[in-house]
Amino acid sequence: MQRRSSGDLVPGPRADGARILVVEDEPGIIDFLERGLSGAGFDVRCAQDGIEGERLATTESFDAMVLDLLLPGRSGLEIMQAVRRVRPLMPVIILSALGELDDRLSGLEAGAVDYMVKPFSVAELIARLRAQLRAAAHTLASTTTVSAADIEVDLITRRVKRAGKQLHLSATELELLVFMMRNVGQVLSREQILSAVWGYEHDPETNIVDVYIGYLRRKLALPERPAPIQTVRSVGYRLGAVA
Ligand code: CA
Repeated sequence: MQRRSSGDLVPGPRADGARILVVEDEPGIIDFLERGLSGAGFDVRCAQDGIEGERLATTESFDAMVLDLLLPGRSGLEIMQAVRRVRPLMPVIILSALGELDDRLSGLEAGAVDYMVKPFSVAELIARLRAQLRAAAHTLASTTTVSAADIEVDLITRRVKRAGKQLHLSATELELLVFMMRNVGQVLSREQILSAVWGYEHDPETNIVDVYIGYLRRKLALPERPAPIQTVRSVGYRLGAVA
């Protein structure tokens, strides 16, 4: 067994290397968070305005987000709403100044899991982040249904429904769909899909991903409702909201 460092009082199974997005516009706080969180073993990415924060939060993959409320470009609440549409399970901890009580409550209503009042201790933020990451990992592990866009999959019975209509998928099509649903809103490269679904190295020239995306699209398509899978040119595919 490896000994934990003495600063690591709160055991955090996913703390080391967990990707954290920090959206904050005050340079002093960014600097303090970046050093504190990196020092605790997190992989930290910072955005200094609301527009960049929203872009990163909805297109890249993070394990948790630390979000300021008052930001240039987009407010923290607007970012929360955009994030909840594509990443419903990602823990979000709000940072707010004392006077922003109403905003803080709106943030919790919008789906933030916790908040901290400035000025705050980075040690406490780290402890809360770890607690939220553990809770999220537990939720993911104990969840038996996955929903995204207008699709629902029961992982135990392996039933798939789109807009309430039952669909019949092969085992591989189902694996592919669940992987895309768990990364809803994000562009997935062919290589990412290949290693997640097929699990081993394939000839890089293989077109198996494109072939299976084609099968999936056909099965997901309903009258007047095309499959919610977009092709992202020269990159890969994205499962997103129905256009
Ligand atoms: Ca601010």
